[in-house]
Amino acid sequence: MHDILPAGATIGILGGGQLGRMLSVAAARLGLTTHVYEPGSNAPAGEVAHAITTASYEDESALRAFAQSVDVVTYEFENVPTSALDLIESLVPIRPGREALRISQDRMTEKDFLTGLGLHVAPYAPVNDLVELEAALEMLGTPSILKTRRFGYDGKGQVRITAAEEAAGAIVEIAGVPAILEGFVDFSAEISVIAARGADGAVACYDPGENIHSEGILRQTCVPAALPTGLRTDAVLLAGRILNALDYVGVMGVELFVTSQGLLVNEIAPRVHNSGHWTQNGCVVDQFEQHIRAVAGWPLGNGKRHADVVMENLIGDDMERVPELAARSDAALHLYGKTETRPGRKMGHVNLVKPLG
Ligand code: AMP
Repeated sequence: MHDILPAGATIGILGGGQLGRMLSVAAARLGLTTHVYEPGSNAPAGEVAHAITTASYEDESALRAFAQSVDVVTYEFENVPTSALDLIESLVPIRPGREALRISQDRMTEKDFLTGLGLHVAPYAPVNDLVELEAALEMLGTPSILKTRRFGYDGKGQVRITAAEEAAGAIVEIAGVPAILEGFVDFSAEISVIAARGADGAVACYDPGENIHSEGILRQTCVPAALPTGLRTDAVLLAGRILNALDYVGVMGVELFVTSQGLLVNEIAPRVHNSGHWTQNGCVVDQFEQHIRAVAGWPLGNGKRHADVVMENLIGDDMERVPELAARSDAALHLYGKTETRPGRKMGHVNLVKPLG
């Protein structure tokens, strides 16, 4: 790979959802092309990428051909199988690097990593069976949340436990897979920092946004977050610490709980993040371009915020709001081209923008 990818170079993206789509658009704006690898059909990213491979992560010849056709590989989701990554990495660099993926793929490893850096997280304990869950409940009390160690997203793979008698049912609900129990955090707000680190080691963080979830799915992000200045600085500094510890290259989403004792890290995502979509209309250089710049070896761009923004996800039937939103002068719509609407499916988002000053 060249140090700085020139015009016409190709970035491979594992995953063809909306994040891959918006990464592809950002790459195109910089004169770069993308090749998306996605097992499913009708991938939202396929419509805007230069090339798409539709094949499974077990298809070695497809993976090899994909890796040989690109200059660097990145990803839009963290659960890419290790065997696929091993094959790709033997042929082309992967950015962000494998260590960030390894850590974020497993909630236990992630929590151990974060506490090892001196950062605070919710109290947690490993749970492999009912006996361990009962012991963990004794230690952490209720309410608490049982979370599968792997493959959780948008609130999936999580069971809230309000009384010790619910333990057996909770194990059944997660099908007995390895898990962790987390003490319930009494937070006043959820925020996230979208942080970037370039190949040269430069770090740039976007202003923290305040997130509202329901049923485990992000509904809204507001910037600026209503945060005391001290905590805003803490949030940005801790994100930088995580990036440096991983020698990270790319954009990362760091989700935090605001509590009376300060900030707790909920989870890290080694990719562009839904809570960073506001940057598309609130900053000169948004999170997608920032990620592409980083993985392409370019200097990071200016991520300073020039507007207050409320980002609202358009989920399922929220698409009925599109005509009304399209008529608003403050609304920037971003739709993902998904033709099938399903409850809970992210169909697009809107940024409601109020320029500063
Ligand atoms: P996660 O998939 O871990 O990000 O969890 C999804 C959402 O569940 C979070 O954004 C919180 O709103 C809530 N949640 C997760 N873990 C905890 C916790 N330990 N205490 C309180 N709420 C939590």
